[in-house]
Amino acid sequence: MMKNRVKMEELDEQTRVTHFLEVACGYQEDEAVFEASRCLDCKNPRCVDACPVEIDIPGFIKAIKERDFAHAYRVITEDNILPSICGRVCPQESQCEGACIVGIKNEAVSIGALERFVGDYACEHIKTKKVDVKKLGYKVALVGSGPASLACAAVLIDHGVDVDVFEALHDYGGVLMYGIPSFRLPKDIVKEEIQVLKDKGVMFHKNVLVGKSITLDELKEEGYKAIFLGTGAGLPSALGIPGEHASGIYYANEFLTRVNLMGSNNFPSFKTPVKIGQKVAVIGGGNVAMDAARTARRLGASEVFILYRRDMDSLPARKEEVHHAIEEGIDFRLLESPVMFEEEHYQVKSVKTEVMKLGDLDQSGRRRPVGTKEYRVHQVDSVIVAIGQSPNPIVKRATPELQTDKWGRIVTNDQGETSIKDVYAGGDIVLGAATVILAMGAGKKAAFEMLKKFGH
Ligand code: FAD
Ligand code: SF4
Repeated sequence: MMKNRVKMEELDEQTRVTHFLEVACGYQEDEAVFEASRCLDCKNPRCVDACPVEIDIPGFIKAIKERDFAHAYRVITEDNILPSICGRVCPQESQCEGACIVGIKNEAVSIGALERFVGDYACEHIKTKKVDVKKLGYKVALVGSGPASLACAAVLIDHGVDVDVFEALHDYGGVLMYGIPSFRLPKDIVKEEIQVLKDKGVMFHKNVLVGKSITLDELKEEGYKAIFLGTGAGLPSALGIPGEHASGIYYANEFLTRVNLMGSNNFPSFKTPVKIGQKVAVIGGGNVAMDAARTARRLGASEVFILYRRDMDSLPARKEEVHHAIEEGIDFRLLESPVMFEEEHYQVKSVKTEVMKLGDLDQSGRRRPVGTKEYRVHQVDSVIVAIGQSPNPIVKRATPELQTDKWGRIVTNDQGETSIKDVYAGGDIVLGAATVILAMGAGKKAAFEMLKKFGH
């Protein structure tokens, strides 16, 4: 008889909105072994083809079945240095698990949960050593410390290249640290997985804003053979509607950074409060919108609602995040698009929306929302705009010869190299706001291209 998927334990929805502890509790050893036993060890594993970094999924699952968790970790980390993180945040349902053969008749093997189990096991039980390979005698500078740079660093250090990571903020990890909230991705986990790179010998430097503190030319003068730009997409997109500059309207990145990085949920211990009131509208339907809405609930707002211009099936957020948001009482007001904000004494008071209906398919393959000229008004104390991010512009401003497209994304060739010789780029700065694993894939690819060019 076909075995059913092992459900992961979760914190109950009433108490979890009162704190920022992780909602999904992870598998215990026996649960992981049982779930692993559902894998058919396919000869032509479709899950691997669907993984952007092509992890040997049946290989690591087999090792779990045999209770050799250290080996499972070795298998995963040949292709992915951040298993605890990716196991938690990758959109598995549209990647590996979406392709899993077991999923045709039953629920797919829970590949993400197993990956997370192995990563967490390693954090607790495996001590990483400094990489013991012949040094190649050159060094590379990585700009930004998000998943693109971390994946690039892992490949380079393992091959004997000296690596320096320069980060503008006072903590490492990019969006993993300042964007994704700790109830979904605990910050200790991010720190542990970055520690693996530190232990291997990667050097990290914080509070260095490349383009201001130091230019690309100056980095080259300091002897870096190549530079990788993994500066991400942290610039918020605006709605461009009347009233958007009223007090009480936040952009999701700023809001989440204030909580995740500046501890505004711990006021007065941290002196950076964020005031949101009781009624909060979150505009957007992606992971960022879900994170912002669930964070607002945890800050004490009693009525949090998502305004999204398409329907429930079109929400781009991971299914699990939508499910958790609903459990936590987030209301979904769908097929509505904001047209203006009303303010009183400069403070936002309401958001007016136009009711939409779905028309023909657009370029993204989704049905285009079309206005109906019917309007609604929602009373609010604050609004969080989460409709997307654009590439960080600082390096481009300081380096005009760096070619970008009309959206400000850095243009690269097939090797990941930019218009400037020996300067590579990857992740959100090239793709626009994408995913952790795509950023990692780009970082990894750029590292192998550098090794090909400069020697390995
Ligand atoms: P980033 O993670 O953005 O890192 C870039 C780093 O570069 C930052 O630390 C920044 O401070 C630094 N930097 C920028 N400019 C400079 C400079 N001039 N000098 C030095 N440093 C600089 N993806 C998923 O797969 N699953 C999810 O569930 C998910 N949820 C998300 C939730 C939120 C709230 C957000 C914002 C994004 C989410 N994403 C998710 C998207 C994912 O996090 C990004 O695609 C990914 O982090 C991109 O990685 P990156 O390395 O390109 O850039
Ligand atoms: Fe196992 Fe599913 Fe991958 Fe087949 S497709 S190897 S069953 S995880």
